[in-house]
Amino acid sequence: MDCIFCQIAAGKIPSDIVYQDQEIIAFRDINPQAPRHLIIIPRKHIPSLTRLSPADFNLVGKMVAIANQLAEKEGVAEKGYRLAINCGEEGGQAVPHLHLHLIGGRRLSDALG
Ligand code: 5GP
Ligand code: ZN
Repeated sequence: MDCIFCQIAAGKIPSDIVYQDQEIIAFRDINPQAPRHLIIIPRKHIPSLTRLSPADFNLVGKMVAIANQLAEKEGVAEKGYRLAINCGEEGGQAVPHLHLHLIGGRRLSDALG
């Protein structure tokens, strides 16, 4: 198990965890791009969006729902925030374990990259 996010989910690599349940865990990004930058992941190792099966659709819906709750908790829900999933090399995905970025706390650029 050399996946860094699997190791975070297993508690083998320390992280600042802000939410966890049986399926999902959320923690602060180690290199935040904004005042609030959380990473939401499934405990299940799904390498990327392209490897998502219909059986995982509910899980991704739950990740989004939890991100919305965390946005409230982090105090960015009212002013606004961004949820992003990078997919593949050109999509900017560095860690090959599906993850949702929650970014907020400043005005984000209109450009998506
Ligand atoms: P990606 O570029 O794959 O969409 O995003 C990966 C994110 O994970 C990056 O924002 C990076 O800062 C974050 N990250 C990488 N390694 C670690 C780690 O060990 N701990 C935490 N908390 N975040 C990490
Ligand atoms: Zn993994």
